[in-house]
Amino acid sequence: MATSHEPRRGAIPLSLAHLRDSQIDAVIGAAKEGFLLVDAERQIIWANPALRAMFGLESADLLGRSSSELRSLLTESVEDPASFLSRNEEIYQDEATIIEDEIVKISQPRSITTSRTSVPVVSKEGEYVGRLWIYRDVTKALAAERAKAELEATNRRLVELSETKSIFLSTISHELRTPLTAVLAHSDLIKRRQACSGNEKDLQHIEVILRGGERLKSLIDDLLDVSDFESTVMRIRESRFFINDAVSSAIDSIAPVTAPKHQRIVLEQCSPDAQIVNDRERFEQILGNLLSNASKYSVDGSVIRVVAYIDGNAVKVSVNDQGEGIDQSNLFSLFEPFYRGDDELTRSTQGAGLGLTISRSLARAMRGDLEVSSELGTGSTFTFGLPLIEGEWIAS
Ligand code: ADP
Repeated sequence: MATSHEPRRGAIPLSLAHLRDSQIDAVIGAAKEGFLLVDAERQIIWANPALRAMFGLESADLLGRSSSELRSLLTESVEDPASFLSRNEEIYQDEATIIEDEIVKISQPRSITTSRTSVPVVSKEGEYVGRLWIYRDVTKALAAERAKAELEATNRRLVELSETKSIFLSTISHELRTPLTAVLAHSDLIKRRQACSGNEKDLQHIEVILRGGERLKSLIDDLLDVSDFESTVMRIRESRFFINDAVSSAIDSIAPVTAPKHQRIVLEQCSPDAQIVNDRERFEQILGNLLSNASKYSVDGSVIRVVAYIDGNAVKVSVNDQGEGIDQSNLFSLFEPFYRGDDELTRSTQGAGLGLTISRSLARAMRGDLEVSSELGTGSTFTFGLPLIEGEWIAS
């Protein structure tokens, strides 16, 4: 037994009488941790209610017990009595031993996992007078840690799966594009020849092939765009351009879609005009997609209103239609990949549900955003905005 009069590092310099003092008893008595104090002869001299509850002991069970009786009382409750006993022996061998965060599983009266700490208690003179054990119930904390680890593992797996899916999308789209380009090029060649030889029937067939091919091509381009932004490599090629030019050009390109439906596009140009540095092709792609939707999801003869304007530090273009509108509860889903409305009109039109996903991702890659407001029965307004940055200007 160590008899050094120098208080040891980590040991608690208190007398046992001091520890039994009623104030300390009141404070530790209310603690959630289980406290157990044994004297130099390994007799239990004090245990708080939390400790007794953990080991299923009555206070009368403890007092005046011999150390071996006590050992068996505590040992009965633990999951692995043999290693509990041998570990305790090991700790008692060296009075100076301090242990921290050692896991002990208790099976009786409740199955719990505890983390225990043990420090020697020394008198003011530095003499070893016993040992304090503190047991903390960590069952819930460990379960939470396990749940968190499982969640993280699931998350990693989902990210991996998502990456695999993006690679698959990108590879398959590239693979499909090559033969399709050949099909389109040769169909176009045959179409020109038929146009000269004048076989009307064959010309119609070849037109069908070409239209189908073009549609397939635009679907493949969409898939490539989706896999690009999922792998965060969306390419933005910047150049300087006027907003009104780009808006007019997008409106001109959509004429083949709106004309057969006798729809009219009313344009309010940006005034004053603004010159920005951004990706013009992508700008027109987004606007083209909004215009195509405005036409697709509105009846024949309706009016589509396009307004380009400056709003603070941003250039905005809104596309408003007189369609059926979109239910508020579906507004968030619109931008999800492959989302398509389940209304009559949507079912009767072709689409893969990628246009708005791509448009919003592109808008964000271009430092801007795409928003929607809609009311059922009145129509929808999609607003695409880009910030005005240094070097860009508003025409006077
Ligand atoms: P797609 O048009 O190929 O279905 P989008 O991503 O462009 O894909 O649109 C997703 C869905 O949002 C559409 O299927 C449609 O239900 C709805 N939607 C888009 N634009 C409009 C609009 N202007 N008016 C009403 N519904 C729209």
